[in-house]
Amino acid sequence: MKAAIYAGSFDPITNGHLDIIERSAKVFDKIYVLAMINNEKKYTFTIEERVELIKKATKHCPKVEVDSYQGLLVDYCKMKNVYTLVRGLRALTDFDYEFQMATINRKIDDNVESVLFVASNKYSYVSSSVVKELASYGSNVSDIVPKAVDEALKKKLRGGK
Ligand code: ADP
Repeated sequence: MKAAIYAGSFDPITNGHLDIIERSAKVFDKIYVLAMINNEKKYTFTIEERVELIKKATKHCPKVEVDSYQGLLVDYCKMKNVYTLVRGLRALTDFDYEFQMATINRKIDDNVESVLFVASNKYSYVSSSVVKELASYGSNVSDIVPKAVDEALKKKLRGGK
């Protein structure tokens, strides 16, 4: 069985992330979607909220297992015995960072391979931060986030209005 790990902040999950999950489901038999906890980062959604939203958004994908982790991604790989990492590339601007992360992970453990999926044109401008900024001004983001995220954003950023 070919499995892979798609780790990220998912703060919150967007249709861009979902697009990458669906693309990777064509290639892998199982995908661990992993919400990372990094003490250096400030998140809008709690880890429980991020996990819950990923679960709701991926209910239709039987190959997906949602999890969270605090620590080195490579240690999670060892724990699961899964050494393939999935990431998404939206544009050339993502490349430097993704290249650096892939190289660092491989430096820590040479067994780790990163597979980069190219984002759909439709979502190439979508990021969790763009979604949060738009939602905070009351813009409609229902076409770029899963339904559960749209509702959660309204509650979190607009006080339910
Ligand atoms: P991180 O903080 O680890 O970058 P993100 O949740 O922002 O976490 O992103 C996780 C991964 O998903 C990254 O590889 C990122 O490039 C990719 N990604 C984010 N948004 C999109 C999108 N709209 N389309 C395709 N890939 C995306």
